[in-house]
Amino acid sequence: MEIYFDNAATTPLSSRAAKAYIETADLYPGNPSSIHRLGRKAKEELERRRCHIASLLGVNERNLIFTSGATESISLFFSSLLWMEKGTIVVSRIEHEAVTSWMTYLKKIGWNIVKIKAKGGFVSPEELYSSLTPDTKVVAVMAVNNVTGAIEDTKSLVECVRRYEKENGRKILFFSDSVQALGKTGLDLKGSDVDGASFSAHKINGPRGVGLLYAKNPEMIRPIASAGGQESGHRGGTENLPGVAAFDEALTEWMENREKDEKRIGEYNKMLRESLSKLGLEIISPKSASPYILSVISPLPSEVFTRMLMDKGFCVSSGSACSNNAKGKSEGILEAMGIRNEKAKRAIRISMGRDTKEEDIISLCKAFGELING
Ligand code: PLP
Repeated sequence: MEIYFDNAATTPLSSRAAKAYIETADLYPGNPSSIHRLGRKAKEELERRRCHIASLLGVNERNLIFTSGATESISLFFSSLLWMEKGTIVVSRIEHEAVTSWMTYLKKIGWNIVKIKAKGGFVSPEELYSSLTPDTKVVAVMAVNNVTGAIEDTKSLVECVRRYEKENGRKILFFSDSVQALGKTGLDLKGSDVDGASFSAHKINGPRGVGLLYAKNPEMIRPIASAGGQESGHRGGTENLPGVAAFDEALTEWMENREKDEKRIGEYNKMLRESLSKLGLEIISPKSASPYILSVISPLPSEVFTRMLMDKGFCVSSGSACSNNAKGKSEGILEAMGIRNEKAKRAIRISMGRDTKEEDIISLCKAFGELING
């Protein structure tokens, strides 16, 4: 039996989400774009789900665009810049590859990319403010880092962008990749006044292949695929209604249990921190990080230590699972935090989920002890 500690990479589909998926596929066989009765019923259900998700996020439903996942949501936002006059994008050095790959591309076609540090895992509002210029068109700082769990102070970061906007009379878009924040931290899209945010269902026990883009001004979003005109013309293609229904149920479940779960997982996080520190391991996740993610420096290269833990029945990740395919990406995030490359290569990410139990933590600590003390 494997004990799963890689919930920041993906989570198992909850039974409530699976039930909603099957029931919706069964009850709403029509295509939401069809004008017959079954089509209209499917469209109604899609819009009902959109409204419900919007109410959970505290935003208007017209600002939500369903996608195939966060990578697509991010792409939809950044590809829309192709229609804008070029300028500067200020981006944190700790972004997920779904964002950084766009920076590489946008730079190639003439955008100026300014990368800002995240010392200790955090982007400082002062540093962000001083990096803004009259040419800045976009700022991208993620909400919660997928490697360390560091929670960025999005509200203050947006505030200083808005202050600069006022002083200079120019609009700057703020994008917040909020994948690891959804359901887990007090996300406040409206209060923080971001222009765009990305979400993914499979990080919160929803299905893979379902995501969401929040756009404060949906008119700025230009479709990558326009055929069919679905999602108010922002994303063509038949909507994944069962997937959306399952996403809604998964999110509801997380929201309903958020405080209780956060407290419980916070206690497990504390147990892990204490036990692993006693073994002499350095914890690199800040104390204030999301309790769901804990990164530590192991004594061996992360691939080796991950394998040793796997042999003992534990699934952890070396840095970030998404970037395990693209060598060195999570090391880049850790280096941007001020961690030396040699150390970053030994980073192990333990990520918990709603299903994590106290006995799992006890067994994991025991396994670490056996591997380190022999
Ligand atoms: N952004 C962050 C912070 C992530 O952690 C991930 C996935 O690990 C993504 C974006 C991409 O999400 P998806 O798998 O839904 O494309």
